[in-house]
Formats: sequence, C-alpha cells, structure tokens
Amino acid sequence: MMKNKVMIVTGAGMGLGLATAKELASRGANLVLVDYNDKVLEEAKAAIAKEYPAVKIISVVADVSNEEAVKNYVNEAVKAFGTIDGLYNNAGIEGKQASITEYDVNVFKKVIDINLMGVYYGLRYVIPVMQKQKYGRIVNAASVGGIRGVLNQMPYVASKHAVSGMSKNAALEYGRDGVLTNAIAPGAILTPMVAEAFREVNPADPKAAESEYAQRNPTKRLGQPHEVAKLVAFLLSDDNGYINGQTIAIDGGESNMY
Ligand code: NAD
Repeated sequence: MMKNKVMIVTGAGMGLGLATAKELASRGANLVLVDYNDKVLEEAKAAIAKEYPAVKIISVVADVSNEEAVKNYVNEAVKAFGTIDGLYNNAGIEGKQASITEYDVNVFKKVIDINLMGVYYGLRYVIPVMQKQKYGRIVNAASVGGIRGVLNQMPYVASKHAVSGMSKNAALEYGRDGVLTNAIAPGAILTPMVAEAFREVNPADPKAAESEYAQRNPTKRLGQPHEVAKLVAFLLSDDNGYINGQTIAIDGGESNMY
C-alpha cells in the first residue's frame, strides 16, 4: 500500500499519466497532478477524487519544458504535503512523423524541450527534496524508441535515448541518498498519443494501421494503459528496494525482435 505517500505525476490529464494516477490512488497515495492542458487536468482530478474520496489531490498547471513552471509544481507539492516520495516524469509528445532530412527543425526542438528538458527539470528540482528525506522513487518515461530506432521519429528517439541515459546518471549520483531512478520503455500502448500516430500513418483507416501494428507484436495486440500503470506503481513503491538505473521494456516482447 502507499497510504500517506506523496506522488507527482506529470502529463496526468490522459493516457499513461492518468492511468497511473488512478493506480496510485487505488493504493492510497496522495497525488500532485501536473499537465499543461488545464481542461483534461481538472477532469482527471475530479474523476480520481470521485473514485477515491480518501485520497488528497492537488493539481498544478505546468508545461514541463518551462523551468519556472517545474520549480512551481515542486514548490506546490512541498507546500501541500511537506514531502515528495515519488515522481512519474511522464509528460511527453511524439512530434511529427518525417524522415531526418525533411523533419521540421522547430518541431524537433519542441520534442527535445518537452521530452528531454522536461524530464531533466523534474529531476533537477525533485531530487533535492528527496535527498533531504533520504528517500525517493523516480520513474522516467522512455519508450522502445529509447532502446532502438523508430522510422521517421528521430527527435522522439533521440529524446527517449536521453531519458534512458539520464535515468542511469540519476541512479549513479543519488542511489546513496535512498533515491532510486528508473525508466520504462513502453511499446505501443493504446492511449490518445498512439491513436493520433495511427491517424497520421493511415488517415483514411487508422484502425487498419492499428491492427497491422498489433500483428507485428509477439502478443498480437497493443498494450493497455493499466498494464503500464501497475509497473510504474511497483517501481514507485517500497516494493522496489534495489532496482536502480534500469530501462524496463513493457512492450509484449517487441524490442527483442530486432
Ligand atoms: P498522451 O498524449 O495520451 O498523454 C500525454 C499527456 O501529457 C497529456 O495529458 C498532455 O496534455 C500532457 N503533456 C504533453 N506535453 C506536456 C507538457 N509539455 N507539459 C505538461 N503536460 C504535457 O500520451 P501517452 O501515450 O499517455 O504518453 C505518456 C508518456 O509515455 C510520453 O512521454 C510518451 O512518450 C511515453 N510513451 C508512450 C507510449 C504509448 O504507447 N502510449 C509508448 C512509449 C512511451
């Protein structure tokens, strides 16, 4: 159980962030929900509060690529709860699909700003709080794109390899303070982000793109958000005492196929 633990989830408004926030609430954790979309953020907060009325929840609107906004969500968390036991550094975007030579440089920079710098700022401002407590658990959102290449998604792949690397460094530098940092590498999990990717691949028939992709997976299906949520909740809990600096694939075995 996670009763009285305080967990920050970024990108909590939908997809994997929302599924994980619900899983953490089901285990009794108090929540700091962060998203840059205030509408989905407030909907998520209301839905979780309704299902888990005993859990204390605050929401903070923040774009994780904005350093001041990250400082602010950390300050708000400490002000509300006094501690931060876990951080799910989850907010991220896919960018557009285009070859390296045709990729829009501004979109490239935006993907790096959110996926790489956003995770870095989270580490930078949450770790000092955890160091003082001599306790913390951090999960950073990488991807199978943090383990191998993905056609036409170069900035995404670059940012997710960086997330895996930053997780290793944080593990080395702060393991002595009781702070364990890991990354997860999901394959295709059916969230709004992935639904949008299938629409881009086949605008006329996104469902066809989805089943074609599923057939390439050893399990012949896509993953579900609650399956990722359970892994993240484990890594953020006291059940994880000695896993540190790993990038854990949750992809039905897909990353073993290449
Ligand atoms: P999603 O698009 O369904 O949800 C992402 C959430 O993050 C949204 O609520 C969005 O508003 C928020 N967000 C985006 N940019 C933000 C920013 N700059 N600041 C604050 N909030 C922001 O995405 P998802 O599929 O749930 O993915 C979540 C994370 O998991 C991402 O980092 C993604 O790269 C990673 N991931 C997802 C999959 C998958 O199959 N779904 C696979 C591998 C990795």
